[in-house]
Amino acid sequence: MTLSTEQRTIIEGAIRDIPDFPKPGIIFKDITTILNNPEAYKTLQDHLRDRYASYNLDYVAGIDARGFIFGATLARDLGVGFVPIRKKGKLPYTTVSEKYALEYGVDEVEIHIDAFGETKNARVLLIDDLIATGGTANAAASLIDKVGANCVESCFIMGLTFLDGIKKLEEKTPVYSVIEVN
Ligand code: AMP
Repeated sequence: MTLSTEQRTIIEGAIRDIPDFPKPGIIFKDITTILNNPEAYKTLQDHLRDRYASYNLDYVAGIDARGFIFGATLARDLGVGFVPIRKKGKLPYTTVSEKYALEYGVDEVEIHIDAFGETKNARVLLIDDLIATGGTANAAASLIDKVGANCVESCFIMGLTFLDGIKKLEEKTPVYSVIEVN
């Protein structure tokens, strides 16, 4: 299930472009203007709920930090658990971690070793606000795999289709972008 024309107009109209943030040449896709717009936020979350209602998910896993907002709301709507995938050093219990390359240097994401409880091969939806190079999402999908769960799809509010992040992640999981940015 994808967006209706009316839903797309409402959601796209609520995304704000900030040129040259955080550095020159980047157009930052600001989602705070979805969150403070009750019609857009509800339209988006209702769409995600309708799409994933039939996926038999056990968990939604959101990426630090904007993935928490959309992911936790969706998990609550679907009646399943929510799991945070966090930047290094934030999770208090035993973690599994994965490094990924940035333009300059490396970063690292972590998950709790028991994040998916006793469920064997838990069916997990990975979610974040945006996929660009795909580095963050690829590392997050690897973490889900490392702790013995099954990432059944990766979902982004926006997918930058002019980069090859989506193609790379598709080698691991199906990818759904609510809005494709060309
Ligand atoms: P990447 O690992 O390159 O796919 O980058 C994805 C992460 O960086 C996501 O968590 C996004 O929130 C953030 N990000 C990257 N590019 C943008 C952008 N143009 N606008 C907003 N957020 C971005």
